[in-house]
Amino acid sequence: MQVPFFPYSDLFTEDEKAYTEIFRSVSSRGAFILQKELEEFEDLVCQHTKSNFAIGMGNATDALEIGLMAGGLKQGNEVIISSHTMIATASAIKVAGGNPVPIECGNDHMMDVSKIESAITEKTQAIMPTQLNGRVCDMDSIMLIAEKYNLDIYEDSAQAFGAKYKGKAAGTFGLAGCISFYPAKTMGCFGDGGILLLQDEELYRKAKLIRDHGRNEENKIEMWGRNSRLDNLQAAFMAHKMQYYDKWIARRREIALMYSESLKDIQEILLPPPPENEVHFDIFQNYEIQADRRDNLKIKLANDGIGTLQQWSGIAVHQCKELGFTQDLPITDNIFSKILMIPMNHLLTDDQVEHVIGKIKEFYNY
Ligand SMILES: *Cc1c(COP(=O)(O)O)cnc(C)c1O
Repeated sequence: MQVPFFPYSDLFTEDEKAYTEIFRSVSSRGAFILQKELEEFEDLVCQHTKSNFAIGMGNATDALEIGLMAGGLKQGNEVIISSHTMIATASAIKVAGGNPVPIECGNDHMMDVSKIESAITEKTQAIMPTQLNGRVCDMDSIMLIAEKYNLDIYEDSAQAFGAKYKGKAAGTFGLAGCISFYPAKTMGCFGDGGILLLQDEELYRKAKLIRDHGRNEENKIEMWGRNSRLDNLQAAFMAHKMQYYDKWIARRREIALMYSESLKDIQEILLPPPPENEVHFDIFQNYEIQADRRDNLKIKLANDGIGTLQQWSGIAVHQCKELGFTQDLPITDNIFSKILMIPMNHLLTDDQVEHVIGKIKEFYNY
């Protein structure tokens, strides 16, 4: 049996007829840029996240950059991030003129909130937690610290579309939050795509201008901008996908429960927290474990036809010494020597999940 880490072509073939029809409908109208399907999709995302505003963009990295520009990140100011994140979190801050400051992650792989205060300097302007693997950080603590030191909050919620903390959706806690529609994300489009969530009308206006060359609805240039518009075709595909999205998330949570129940007693591995509803509504973008003898487990699973992946190719942000990071983060270094993602997507069958479980048990003689 084969269990690919992510079945990219199935994204299309699972509903090929509908997507072909959408392609025909949108293309034959020539409705490629800033058309009604984009607005429809932005509305659907607002409804789903209870966000006041959403602006479709070229990708989530652009959305973060534009969010920081609209939010007024000042040149040279620092933004605290978790080192367990994509380089995009850090690069968005850099490109927007700031300096990313990575801190430790904890055993749940989220930003370790107890390490935030010691990273604050007179240049710190914001905290940007990554809502990693489809889980939201301890936002109560982060918001308390932000209030105490008068810091802004931005969220890299690229992996957390519809994840909630105490009923509130990822991306809606601070000034701005991004969501990614990269194909392997929980809502994957057929290429690159992203969206920016905003709560303040003034920031929304600004970010929308920046997305489209600083142009307003009357085609008048109001400010310096750039170009990062979500393609109308991608928006149309995803507006269609929205009707299935909650079902897909429920399936991911079901698979997480299967992994959790079957693997939780193996001493040599540490699992993510199991799905619950009270505080954390996790959407399981990824199922990332910590595994003793990780490299051997990876090889064994590959030999059994099971795809796995080390997130960020196994490199934490502070480990990118080429970029000038000088932080020493031993806890994150240790966690990164063990992390591995096992297959997690809504297209997995029960048989495939059982196959993965069986082979992991076999490896640890459990
Ligand atoms: C995928 C991802 C991004 C980047 O998203 P793009 O849409 O590819 O730009 C940023 N941060 C995190 C945590 C991600 O997982």
